[in-house]
Amino acid sequence: MPSTNNQLLTVSGLSAAPGSKTQGFLKVPGTDVSIPLTLINGTKTGKTVVITGGIHGGEYPGIETAIRLASHLDPKDISGRLAIVHPANPHAFFAKLQYLGPDDGKNLNRMFPGKALGTVSEKIAYAISSQLFSIADFFMDLHGGDIHEALVPFVIYPSACDPEVSRVSAEAASLMGILYVVGASSTNGTFGCAAQSGVPGFLAEIGQCGLWSEEEVETYLRGTTNVLAYLGVLSRPVEDLGSVTRIPGMIGAIAAQTGCWYPSVKPGDKVAKGQKLGEIRDFFAQPLGEYFAPQDGTMLFVVTSLAINEGEPLAALG
Ligand SMILES: [Zn+2]
Repeated sequence: MPSTNNQLLTVSGLSAAPGSKTQGFLKVPGTDVSIPLTLINGTKTGKTVVITGGIHGGEYPGIETAIRLASHLDPKDISGRLAIVHPANPHAFFAKLQYLGPDDGKNLNRMFPGKALGTVSEKIAYAISSQLFSIADFFMDLHGGDIHEALVPFVIYPSACDPEVSRVSAEAASLMGILYVVGASSTNGTFGCAAQSGVPGFLAEIGQCGLWSEEEVETYLRGTTNVLAYLGVLSRPVEDLGSVTRIPGMIGAIAAQTGCWYPSVKPGDKVAKGQKLGEIRDFFAQPLGEYFAPQDGTMLFVVTSLAINEGEPLAALG
């Protein structure tokens, strides 16, 4: 049974006493970035959970979910501590840029664990990893299909880490009410970096194409609070939110040309090895490159923008 909590929760100069909530900003040193941060310190002891929305500025369901969790969760109901970031990348949010931060053109999700003396995105990553991953027992990173990205909901957990960290991550990910639960071996993204320091967690994807709906936010709220119940942070039964399909890994197609992208598949499509995924053409409608499925699988995301640059993701299947 959790016992009475008597520990102060402090992050970046903000403090929440036991049984209280504090809202303010995590100021990223050496930048003008102020990240909205909510600290909820429960009345009872328990795990410390870090939740981030808006690592990518155009992925709205996760951002709105983080805002609502921060607003609605009551310290009286919490055993443990919560630090909620909403959103992680406010400059990117207001710039409405795809994937990238406006200060340095970098993808924040690829900057972890970050650098204290790096570019703005590297400094944001460093602030989050050094101040939040360091206190976390579990990490939930809420994403969605970006402005140029269509997808079926899926959740990715770390597979190239301590086996127990991976097992707990996968078990929690399976409680989100999301059909596809995908293992990933990358270590420089948010959840991969957290896992390398022994913190289990996952990255979830709900919503697409720069849109958000009440239904998507409700799905996200049901899933995240179910995981909080699994972790013992909310005292209520863990629900079965539906069966899941476990996928060991995700394989992406990367653009080898700059031009116009014409996909032949949609998210959720079952594809066979060798099936055409799409092609890139130039402005004179001449084909520059064709892309084929490297194996049988299910399409998890497909880029929807006509514009494509060499080196950018086109689609991924698992
Ligand atoms: Zn994202």
